[in-house]
Formats: sequence, C-alpha cells, structure tokens
Amino acid sequence: MIQLIDIHTHCYHEERLNSILSHSALDTEIPDDVRYISLSIHPWYLTQDNISLQLQYIKNAISIDKRVVAIGECGIDKVCDTPLGLQMEAFEEAAMLARDNNLPLIIHSVKSSNEIIQLRKKIGEDSIWIMHGFRGKKELALEYIRHNINLSFCEKYNTEALVALPLNKIFLETDESKLSIDEIAAKIASDYGVSVEKLKKEVAGNISRCFPFIGL
Ligand SMILES: [Zn+2]
Repeated sequence: MIQLIDIHTHCYHEERLNSILSHSALDTEIPDDVRYISLSIHPWYLTQDNISLQLQYIKNAISIDKRVVAIGECGIDKVCDTPLGLQMEAFEEAAMLARDNNLPLIIHSVKSSNEIIQLRKKIGEDSIWIMHGFRGKKELALEYIRHNINLSFCEKYNTEALVALPLNKIFLETDESKLSIDEIAAKIASDYGVSVEKLKKEVAGNISRCFPFIGL
C-alpha cells in the first residue's frame, strides 16, 4: 500500500505525519513532530507592514530548517482586500525564492489566472508550480497545463476538469477538509476512472519528481 504525501494542509494532527504543513511567520510555532513544511505568504494576511518580515522569515527558514520542502501557499486573490500590487510583489518574490532554491511553489489563486500566467512567463516555465485546491473549469485546467503548471485537488473540484488532465500533472491535498488524504484519493480515483492504487502510484511518482527534498 502506497502512503501518499498530502501536499497541502493547515490542520496538522499526529496521524497526518505524511502531510506538508502550510506555515507562515504569522502562525504560532510549528509543533516539533511536523515532518514537512511549506513556507507560506498568504495574500489574505499580507500587509505593507508584514511583507518584509514574512519574506525574511522564508529566506531564513529555507536555509536552517531541513523540513522545508516547498514554498506556499502564496498567490493572488482578487476577492480579498489586500491591494493587488502588494499581492503581486509578494508572489513574485516567493516565486523567485522557490525557483532559486529548487523548491516547488504551492499557489492560491482566486480570479487571477491571467496574472499567474503572466508571472509564469516572467519567472520561467521550468520551475515546479502547483495550483492548490483547484476547482476551475476544464479550459482553465488545460491552460495551466500548457504553461507546465500542475494542479492539486482536494474534496471539491470540477470533475470535467479532473478527467481532462494527464495523471502526471495531478497532486492531492486535504487543505482544510475533514477528509483524510486516502478518502480524497478514493473519491478522485473513482471520478477519474482508475483504481486507487494506480492513482496513488502516479501521484507518488509526481511527488518524488517535483519535491526534491522529500524523503531525504
Ligand atoms: Zn490552504
């Protein structure tokens, strides 16, 4: 049985040892038994006053904490009150840090696919980007794939978009869901029309290809 890595969660429990906890400088301290961390600079909590503190925290943590395996979530959210220019600045900085440190970037996007793709072209399309909690339509999913952007699925998603994707572009996460990663895998396998074992094998392969610091 393959034990899948949950690439994005905010709800850390001991039984979720195989999760990547999304953590920012603004959160409470990381519990000692957390195995993997992604360093977040979330658009919702970003202000002119805390942007440099958060970026400095990320730079520092990358160099001292071996549990860091990704950057994010970070990104652009047009429905929140944070000024767009500030969000773009933080996202671009985070994307450069990810690229320069060979870390995958886990992205939060709300109504901002144009900005994300623009920045993708600017930063370069070879680094690993993963849209987290993807719920968009098939057309958008395929547009992201054209720019070599991967998609991560949680409990809720557009099935037509899911089945349009090749398995080598798919990741799974629990985010804030109460479902376990195995329950999410079972739901997605059934909607995709493959066995759970086949799905897990593919996703585990994607993780070992895209997360160079997992398992070290
Ligand atoms: Zn999240």
